[in-house]
Amino acid sequence: MRKAIIVGNWKMNGTVGEAVHLVAELKSLIGDVSDVEVAVAPPFTALSAVSREIRGSNVRLCGQDVFWEKEGAYTGEISASMLKDLECHFVILGHSERRQFLGETDEWVCKKIMAALDIGIHPIVCVGESLDHRDSGRAFSIVEEQIRGCLGRLSAGDMETITIAYEPVWAIGTGKTATPEQAEEMHHKIRGILEDTFGRDTARKVRIQYGGSVTPDTIGDLMKQPDIDGALVGGASLKADSFARIVKFNEK
Ligand code: PEP
Repeated sequence: MRKAIIVGNWKMNGTVGEAVHLVAELKSLIGDVSDVEVAVAPPFTALSAVSREIRGSNVRLCGQDVFWEKEGAYTGEISASMLKDLECHFVILGHSERRQFLGETDEWVCKKIMAALDIGIHPIVCVGESLDHRDSGRAFSIVEEQIRGCLGRLSAGDMETITIAYEPVWAIGTGKTATPEQAEEMHHKIRGILEDTFGRDTARKVRIQYGGSVTPDTIGDLMKQPDIDGALVGGASLKADSFARIVKFNEK
């Protein structure tokens, strides 16, 4: 009942020309896909051009971040209405790289979620533990704290437009994918927290993606897990061919 969702996070990579080229190639490779929701998150500089290139296709546009204020003196920031203006459907929030390098907190993520929801953009909210947290047996409590801190103020109705991306920090860009069982264990836990907070019906509707070194070779087994509804893909989304093979995971 939950449609699979695969999103490519291009991070800080590529010129406008390279971004358009990449998405044009992707479009032609996955034009026949209708059972998976697909989105790409180019750098801000390429959003406008990529938006034009994907118009009318089955690829949606995703921002990599947003600021919570509507407008004004916030140098370097981008508002939710600016993303909406470029036809962004999703926005990634609370990515671990932002938490690590830019001091992003759960409270900020919560404010950003509100700003996105206010204007009708669907947040993809990232949570995940570090290796240190996992090794010291704190993985579940850290993720629970992030979920409650980022989502605790939302209504059940809001939750239905939210996607959660579980991204263990130790698996991002390291080539170490969590095993399908490790990922499922956390996804199941997350769904339990959602059930506890928002009720069973809502918890069953929320899509939970896995992220962390996903490749065409690992996606199939991950997607067989009952609580894994998709993937947030970094490195492997920068080549149209590998991302298309991930999107077409069930054609293997
Ligand atoms: C990410 O940054 O969201 C990510 C999952 O990256 P990678 O696939 O490169 O690990």
